[in-house]
Amino acid sequence: MTGHKRHVTRTCVACRCSDEQENLIRFVASPNGDLLVDYQHKLPGRGAYSCFKRECITRAVQRKAFARSLKNAQINVDVDPLIGSLREQVRLRVLNLIGMARKAGLVASGSQLVLATLKNPQEIAWVLMTSDVSEGVGSKLRQRSARSNVPLIECFDKATLGQALGLSERSVLALKKSPLAQTLNHELQRYMYVMGEL
Ligand SMILES: [Zn+2]
Repeated sequence: MTGHKRHVTRTCVACRCSDEQENLIRFVASPNGDLLVDYQHKLPGRGAYSCFKRECITRAVQRKAFARSLKNAQINVDVDPLIGSLREQVRLRVLNLIGMARKAGLVASGSQLVLATLKNPQEIAWVLMTSDVSEGVGSKLRQRSARSNVPLIECFDKATLGQALGLSERSVLALKKSPLAQTLNHELQRYMYVMGEL
């Protein structure tokens, strides 16, 4: 292992397109023959890959391409549970990263603090507000972030965000610019994509 997995290329079992490994979904077979999504590319054993496209996952299942690629004819697999598992793993990855960002001192949370940080927008990568944010805070945030040119992302709910931060309910957070913010942004875009498009 070189540790540079971004340079490793893999092929989608459905459309045969090659891409960097990290841009594809990795699948492995469990000991009892279930096909598992290995979102973080960490599970041992032979892996099979597909694009982040419902079309490719569906085609791979229908044509038994996962079974062939994994050289395991016994594999049990359905499209919807696979996509459900993928969504859940991306969600957990995002929430873990939010927790890490807080521990690293990169997060301001709570409406007062976030509105205050927007006075120095050049330090802010983006602001996240939950879908159940109060109307008043929501409209203030929309105005301020638009005026300061800070991207505003809407997802999760107060309870989920609070839990990720290790705090009580939180409806807004601002993230400081940092390498971790970039990783988080990438994962968050992917989360929105798998929830919306897949
Ligand atoms: Zn594909």
